[in-house]
Amino acid sequence: MLAHRVLPLTLGWVELPRSVSVEGDRSGARLCEPIPAVLVEAGDEVVLLDTGVNTALLADAALRRRFHGDPGVVVSLPGAGEPLEAAMAGTGRSLGEVTAVAVSHLHYDHAGGLRHVAGRVPVHAQAAEVAFGLGSEAEAHGIYRIDFDDPAIDWRLAEGDVEIAPGIVALATPGHTPGHQSFAVTLDPAVGGGGFLFAFDAADLTANLDGELAIGERIGCSAKETVDQIVRLKAAAAASGLRLVPGHDPEVWPALADELWGRFG
Ligand SMILES: [Zn+2]
Repeated sequence: MLAHRVLPLTLGWVELPRSVSVEGDRSGARLCEPIPAVLVEAGDEVVLLDTGVNTALLADAALRRRFHGDPGVVVSLPGAGEPLEAAMAGTGRSLGEVTAVAVSHLHYDHAGGLRHVAGRVPVHAQAAEVAFGLGSEAEAHGIYRIDFDDPAIDWRLAEGDVEIAPGIVALATPGHTPGHQSFAVTLDPAVGGGGFLFAFDAADLTANLDGELAIGERIGCSAKETVDQIVRLKAAAAASGLRLVPGHDPEVWPALADELWGRFG
């Protein structure tokens, strides 16, 4: 069976300059972008795509200075507890029922919850992402080794596109980070078919997709190369009849969450 339940989770928000999402943006605008994750159920598989922030790095004053010291980028959380646990509880599934996790990339707002699943389930990522993440340049780029440098993590490292569960395919979209991946989620005909291509940070905003505008944050590639990934994702979505979903759009994400919680919640 392909995917039969897809629930967007919002694990917090990051307020930041729009130029982080759109290369060359000089509007001076600031956006409050959702921190996304997705729960996908497919047959007996319960798969979590991305994990949100590491709350310990916000709660401890010294760690907060080190990892969240930039006054221009402000993280806020939905409540006092662990966002991932709270969001999962709302789905009717617990973290203990998750059978696999996949991370789009290792930025702090996507990989910070891996500590909740380390040693319990396979964790899918691109090999290039983990290799970069364990290197000395990572921290300056918002990739915090403390989130994922855990010998207990059962990595399943891919080199390119790979199916990670029935109806869930990771598409390698390097650029934003060296091993970024997006996820195609195909719904089973029994629940209406179709599905979604979650771009995650290969395209933060609808503006990136519609205008084919380069993303502002990238590692080791040109702005043009991030547009190439956007064009590739648009073609892949069109070819397979999937709805392409930007990763951090302040309007699209909550609207999609409302829609899918109404359908699958
Ligand atoms: Zn990112």
